[in-house]
Formats: sequence, C-alpha cells, structure tokens
Amino acid sequence: MQRTYFDHNATTRLDPSVLNVMLPFLADNYGNPSSIHWFGRDARRALDTARRHTADLIGAEPEEIVFTSGGTESDNQAILGIACLLRDRGDRIITTAIEHQAVLNSCLHLQQMGFRITFLPVDSEGRIDPSDLEHALDKDVILVSIMHANNETGTVQPLREAASIARARGVLFHTDAVQAAGRIPIDVNKLGVDLLSLSGHKIHGPKGSGALFVRRGIQPPVLIHGGHHEHGRRAGTENVPAIAGLGEACRLAKERLPETARVTGMLRERLEKGILGQINPALVNGSLESRLPNTLNVSFPGLDGQFLAINLDLMGIAVSTGSACHAESREPSYVLKAMGRSDEEASCCIRFSLGHENTVDEVDRVVAALNQVIKDLRAV
Ligand code: PLP
Repeated sequence: MQRTYFDHNATTRLDPSVLNVMLPFLADNYGNPSSIHWFGRDARRALDTARRHTADLIGAEPEEIVFTSGGTESDNQAILGIACLLRDRGDRIITTAIEHQAVLNSCLHLQQMGFRITFLPVDSEGRIDPSDLEHALDKDVILVSIMHANNETGTVQPLREAASIARARGVLFHTDAVQAAGRIPIDVNKLGVDLLSLSGHKIHGPKGSGALFVRRGIQPPVLIHGGHHEHGRRAGTENVPAIAGLGEACRLAKERLPETARVTGMLRERLEKGILGQINPALVNGSLESRLPNTLNVSFPGLDGQFLAINLDLMGIAVSTGSACHAESREPSYVLKAMGRSDEEASCCIRFSLGHENTVDEVDRVVAALNQVIKDLRAV
C-alpha cells in the first residue's frame, strides 16, 4: 500500500545526513566528552559543533545553549528553573490557554506548589491579544511563557510584541518554539526572548534530543543534579549521538528553511483549496494570515475526527486529530475550545502537517481519499 505521511507536527523522519553524522558515535567513536584522551576529545568536538549549529538556527551564542532530552524537558527546565530562581521576587507566571502540555503541566505543577498562574485567552484564530498581557502583568509576575506557534493549528503568536511588553516591565520571557523551528525564521534577539525551547525530532533530528536557549546572564538553578556537565547547567553524561544528530538537523533546518517554507506552503495551499473545493461543510481552524506554512487544521462538522483519521490510516494516510501527546484522549481539543469552538466543532477536526519531502501527487491523493471517506460516512 502507498503510504503518505502528513503528520510532521507529531514527528519527522530522521534525515539521512543526520543519521550519517550520528552513526560514528553509536559505533567506534564512543568516547565520553568529559574524558581528556583522544576518544573524549572527539566526542567533545561533536558537542561543540552541535552547539554552534543549534545556536546558529536561532541567532544565539553557543554558550547560551543547554542540551536536553527534548522539548518537554526544555519547557520544564525553563519554567521550573525560573520559578526556583525568582521565587523570592514573585509568585505569578503568565502563560496561554493553548500551550503544549509540557508548558501547561509545568505551570499546573507550580500552581500546586503555591504559584499563581494566569492563562491568557486567545481569539477565534488562536492568537493572544498583547494588551491582555499588558493588563495581566503586575509586580508579582516573574515569567511569561507564550508558545511561538501552536502544534494543532499552526497559528503563530505576536511574539515580538508580547516579549517587548514583558521586557519593558523587567519580566523574563520564555517561548516554546518546538513547532516554529525550521518552519519560520527565528532570531532570539529580534524576538527579544530570554529562554526558548527546541526539539530535535520535529526537525528531522533524533527523538530524545532538544535544547534550551538561556540568555547570557540568566542562571536558573540546576534541576538535574550530578556532575558538571553542560557547564554545570544539566548533569549527566551527554547523549553524544543524539546531540550530534540534533546539531546536524539544526544546520539542515537553517539551510533549507526558505525552500521548506516554499514547498510546504505551496502544498498546504493546494490541500486547503482541494478540501474546501470538494468537501462541504469544512472549516479551517486557526489564523489564515499568521500561521506555519506546513500546517492545516480543518473541522468537518457532523463527523468524528478520530474516526476520519482511522479511516484515512486504513488507506495508508497518516494524519492526526491534534496533538500527538493527546492522541489517546477522546476529549475535544482544548486548543480549539479555547478558540471558542463548541465541543462538537472541536471533536471533528483533522490536522494535516506537511514536510519538505511531500509531493503534489500526495496532496491530490489525500484530497481524493478524504472526499471518498466523507462521502461514504455521510451516506451511512
Ligand atoms: N512543545 C510543543 C509545541 C510540541 O508540539 C511538542 C511535541 O509535540 C513538545 C513541546 C514536546 O517536545 P518533545 O516531544 O521533544 O518532548
């Protein structure tokens, strides 16, 4: 059966060039980067190269990068770390209602420990209003955490504006850029963010790899205790193959970004036109102007999104109904609900997320298959 993968916001294929960079460190180059001998120095060089490439993707300095086990850990390190660092200064954190669970549950954990969390609302397109942030800020706020782009809808937040509001009040700003990386340009200095989370497996790198950008001068306390790894910021012998792979994935993501954006944007337009032209009713969720080029989230009123996804899977087409971390839940999407959709509207959606390897033929196949599945279901 022909297989089509339209679920790149869940994860991506390891790039062959990333695999090539990783392989020696899974075989003969097994040194510990902390060792002073040749084997160790070779591994250390791989970490240095990866740190340079990772920093380069987001306009940061290599010393500002801490390698982690992925986006989830980066979000936890950022939010819990700043809460520990600044707990004497204040007890409030501002985030949004549509964050990934890595951010939401980190905040809820802090709430149980006595912190006060404000969840900013979003409009019907999934965007925050920066003036809501302005009004929510007071002297007790120690951190603002707003995602760059949403994993379910692809909606991109007015991040620069939000970060400058926080900065004007002297409040640190974290962003989860896991979905934005490699899809839209990111520059931590132009955005004015203090902490930023990345994940390797969303950009054709290995699973279990990630990074946290921490602006120079900010020193959150260590959350994982042990040796002096990562310049004393995260203990544990570094996962050299994964970090080397992450670095190569970041290098490729930066090099390919204009082409990836062009190709996925063109395919997404075709997919959107095809669906809206052939299937009625169908409703696009998220901002039409401010969104990732690769993501399309559509509600099909009257149908169950999960049921549609399963039927497409039987035809060899991989899509999802929303977040991969939420896939086993039958609850309507909390992201769409925060955008004002009813339970029913938030349960009938499909997320298509494209990658640079997808083709026009695949888009046409998906539109035809979806049309057929929906016709069959409606006939029943
Ligand atoms: N943040 C966002 C926006 C995500 O989409 C994801 C993964 O789906 C994560 C964080 C978690 O990243 P990881 O899977 O690397 O832990």
